Amino acid sequence: MKNTQLEKDARERMKPGVITARGFLGRDERSLADIIQADEEAFRRLGLEFDAVADRLEAWKESGTRGLGEPITVEGRWLVRTGDARGVLPCPWEDGVYHKNSVDVTDPRNGDLIIYSDLSVHLLRVHHFCQGLGSPFRLDPDTLARMMKA
Ligand SMILES: [Zn+2]
Repeated sequence: MKNTQLEKDARERMKPGVITARGFLGRDERSLADIIQADEEAFRRLGLEFDAVADRLEAWKESGTRGLGEPITVEGRWLVRTGDARGVLPCPWEDGVYHKNSVDVTDPRNGDLIIYSDLSVHLLRVHHFCQGLGSPFRLDPDTLARMMKA
């Protein structure tokens, strides 16, 4: 993927304080094209598909809403907690707005934890963007692979 102007504009919007207080990049200084390429390679290596992972994250979110903000066990294994906030967040690529929410999924057997929102799932599914290294909302491919195969 080329480092186009669109990518550069999206990267600017990912800095802390533009769309969200903490931004999407963590301590990652790479271009979006480089971050995405590296994570696409990791997905291939791990045998993961972006759509399948996004579907699973959405299913966990749907199940987790039954807890009304309290953590509940889903599929006999995952501890899922969902929270909602008022308002929406725009995608940094400006192709949609997403309900502001937060889902966290923990694997009690090994402590694996992922935290995501509707926007995170969109970024993963459509842009293949797992967020930068050090971002609290990063969907780390190795962690995802352990969870998808559990
Ligand atoms: Zn988008």
